[in-house]
Amino acid sequence: MAALGNSKNTAEILHKYQFHFQKKYGQNFLIDGNILDKIVESARITPEDCVLEIGPGIGTMTQYLAEEAGEVVAVEIDDNLIPILRDTLSAYTNVTIIHGDILKTDIHQLVREHNGGRPVKVVANLPYYITTPIIMTLFERHIPLESVTIMVQREVAERMLVGPGTKEYGALSLAVQYYAKPEIITRVPASCFMPRPNVDSTVIRLTRYEEPPVDAEDETYLFAVIRASFNQRRKTLANGLANAGNLGVNRQAVEETLAEMGLPSMVRGETLTLSQFADLSNRLGRKRA
Ligand code: SAM
Repeated sequence: MAALGNSKNTAEILHKYQFHFQKKYGQNFLIDGNILDKIVESARITPEDCVLEIGPGIGTMTQYLAEEAGEVVAVEIDDNLIPILRDTLSAYTNVTIIHGDILKTDIHQLVREHNGGRPVKVVANLPYYITTPIIMTLFERHIPLESVTIMVQREVAERMLVGPGTKEYGALSLAVQYYAKPEIITRVPASCFMPRPNVDSTVIRLTRYEEPPVDAEDETYLFAVIRASFNQRRKTLANGLANAGNLGVNRQAVEETLAEMGLPSMVRGETLTLSQFADLSNRLGRKRA
């Protein structure tokens, strides 16, 4: 099987299998060998590693990963890609193809089966329509992982990096920064994909912290507070929290807490740092009814 990662061999495979791109699955296949090398290099994969690839497509990046890793487990949703993957990856004995939806897959079970429960490295050119749910799933379900090296839409990469006071700052920024250190690897032009996406793309690496940078007494509650704070973006933080319905605190408790923290009563959620959110959720948590 010819190596993928260029437009000629990609077009040949697509033609051989009469493959039709499915827009609903966010299918944009990589055709640039330099970018593929850069992704795999930045993921720092060694023969000791088990890699989880989300959405292998026709197996382009999977081939690159299989050359470096001990094992690659690739989860693909599209029925029509499974026979193609069996073909393009037939030379690799260290690849397992799983037919399924990553959001409905028991990833803990996969990690137990393929890596004895030890942390895996996630590498993916993500389907952009579900980037945020995938990242939140990986972190919030506490999947044992060392790092996540992913291609995402440029704006989404920026949302993961920014701090308070910017319009991009929100629940995704705080979740990523609570669990991991985000670093931009490279920007990727639309010409590196087939078909070309109509957005710009960026590769970002998220390196999991051993310990979160702030001290949250109840992590689930911290994220409930964060979500409530950004649900009603144009409202004040006090309104967002008091109206949330799932935090177990009334308006008076919210206002008292903001005062204790020296925050103005009209403060907005997008001005608080991660450490202030942790402090806020710890204080509110202790006042829960
Ligand atoms: N990795 C390939 C590459 O770089 O050329 C393909 C990347 S393409 C942007 C995204 C891939 O994710 C597609 O193959 C698509 O079918 C698959 N996909 C979309 N939604 C998925 C889901 N919920 N679970 C697993 N795979 C999914």
